[in-house]
Amino acid sequence: MSGKRTFTMIKPTAYKNNCTGQIIQKIYEGGFHIAAMKITKLSKKDAEKFYEIHAERPFYGELVDFMSSGPIVAAILEKENAVEDYRKLIGATNPAEAEKGTVRAMCGTSIGENAVHGSDSDDNAKIEGDFFFSERELH
Ligand code: ATP
Ligand code: MG
Repeated sequence: MSGKRTFTMIKPTAYKNNCTGQIIQKIYEGGFHIAAMKITKLSKKDAEKFYEIHAERPFYGELVDFMSSGPIVAAILEKENAVEDYRKLIGATNPAEAEKGTVRAMCGTSIGENAVHGSDSDDNAKIEGDFFFSERELH
């Protein structure tokens, strides 16, 4: 069982396609509390920093350009076992392989533009949440 918090972003295409409402609905149906949420936009530098663990991957440049291409929604979600349960709710990285009913199956359009980000560990959830929010923005 992992910790109580995870971090998510609604990526630029999903935001632009007005998927935010559906995704928030899914988050609530999944039993998560939204502790913090905001609409913001990553600069290219922000996106490079956020995704620096992927710097050596062939799609890094594309990922950075995409993630800084338009507004996103950043949020901290709370629930027991948050990291693992949220990754189940969003589905496989590639929307074409994501299970029916998952967020990525619903709102993703390609492996790059796959609707949402979800933290992959408790440590990364903390690092990523701190990247966007201060303690006083958590409720
Ligand atoms: P995320 O970290 O966004 O929640 P993930 O953990 O399922 O996704 P990662 O392997 O961490 O997947 O990849 C980070 C992001 O990089 C993916 O969400 C996707 O947008 C992009 N990505 C991953 N693999 C590819 C690929 N083969 N081609 C293009 N983009 C990719
Ligand atoms: Mg990941």
